[in-house]
Amino acid sequence: MSIKQARHLNYKTKILCTMGPAIGTEDKLIEALHVGASAFRLNMSHSTHTTHEQYVKAIRNAEKKTGIYVPIIADLQGPKLRVGELGDGVMLMTGQQIFIADPNVLKRKKLKAPDGYIPLEYPSLSRDVRKGDMLLFDDGLLSAQVMAAANDIVKAVVINGGLLKSRKGLNLPYINVSVPSVTAKDKKDILFAIKNGVEYIAVSFVRSAKDIHLVRKFIEANGGDMRIISKVEKPEALTNIEEIVAASDAVMVARGDLGVEIPAAQVPLAQKHIISLCNNYAKPVITATQMLESMIKNPRPTRAEASDIANAVLDGTDAVMLSAETSVGAYPIEAISYMRMICTEAEKPIVEDGKLFVRTMGIKVTASQTTDSIAAAAATIAEEQRINCIATLSYSGETAHLISNRRPRAPILAVTSIISTARRVGLFWGVNGFLLDDVTTTDETIEHIKKLLVGKGYFNKGDTVVFTIGRPAIARSRTNMLSIESL
Ligand code: PEP
Repeated sequence: MSIKQARHLNYKTKILCTMGPAIGTEDKLIEALHVGASAFRLNMSHSTHTTHEQYVKAIRNAEKKTGIYVPIIADLQGPKLRVGELGDGVMLMTGQQIFIADPNVLKRKKLKAPDGYIPLEYPSLSRDVRKGDMLLFDDGLLSAQVMAAANDIVKAVVINGGLLKSRKGLNLPYINVSVPSVTAKDKKDILFAIKNGVEYIAVSFVRSAKDIHLVRKFIEANGGDMRIISKVEKPEALTNIEEIVAASDAVMVARGDLGVEIPAAQVPLAQKHIISLCNNYAKPVITATQMLESMIKNPRPTRAEASDIANAVLDGTDAVMLSAETSVGAYPIEAISYMRMICTEAEKPIVEDGKLFVRTMGIKVTASQTTDSIAAAAATIAEEQRINCIATLSYSGETAHLISNRRPRAPILAVTSIISTARRVGLFWGVNGFLLDDVTTTDETIEHIKKLLVGKGYFNKGDTVVFTIGRPAIARSRTNMLSIESL
């Protein structure tokens, strides 16, 4: 691979692409990686396990062929309420009365959908809602207000009418819903993710740190070691945001549902607050949803979309996400290319002027103080001496992320003998995984890495590198050493 081909080393903001038929083949995925994709998301709300398994295989093949290590994220559906089967849909007229009940209740009472009755597989709804509560269907496009709730049936009046189709979502903002945070489907999907060796689990509709602990316990009890991404998309999550960030391995600003659960006008400041908190806690953060929505159908983005992506980059996001743009859109590769271009432009103040470089020492990290101090020193030295690369020998990827958190302009290589770590770091700002087959003595390992960096065409002879390493390397010691080297 030539230095030109290894341009992914210079990408700072990572691009997470949602899998679907539009990029589901090995060839499309290779193209996606060449134009700037960094990670892939399996949306467990859609498709079967057989299809997801095919996607995992195709991603791993594309990874092998490009030499770019990529993490896979299994995004759980979570406790999302969805209306049941409605045939071709039911037209809800503004002012009309509707009745919502579990399909079993409808059957028992011999009531028929869709004659004003909307099936919803959630028997407790009539106990969770009160008169005056708002029910938002289909991402808030349709709404109804509760008039009464009794005997397992909720009576509501349609406020904003329209066609309600089968399986559309129902959001209940500010209502304490008694659905379990990890559903039976989520558990099956986590087992699938463990079996297929994905790197991250994204947990939907997180309300408190307790939800994350539950998922972690289930993963560990089943022999998994995936890291947890908390999706912030409920007002309760905003209330408990600090404990959620602290308990998570990464966070997603899930603006789709968040913008339904809270007024859309409040989403931009919520985004800035979540990103800044994640930066302070040194937790990777993904900004998601509708970033290039118009490119589902059009070959070019709107100016507003370009601004939205650039602002997320300037807010300090680690990654930006594409949903339907890459899963089912007509221009998936173009969407990734544009996103990469927009990110690269927005990163210029960091990469060219070092303006966003952060020297903070006292951030709220949970890592060992020695690791954090060395990470801060590595980033500072790389910045002050215009070093060409930061290479960190990493087992968990923690040092790599602590360096990335300072936003130095030099590419950060997480050098590791563990493939899941090489993949996992692909989500961190400015970090790329670099797989090493063998770790011997500290000096030998450094020399071996130096040879590989030149041999693979990643860097030139004479380029400078800051190494961080745990000495003795062979004993997998925690990061305790920093060395400035010439290739
Ligand atoms: C969102 O709501 O913004 C989101 C990312 O979740 P999903 O795509 O699962 O709806």
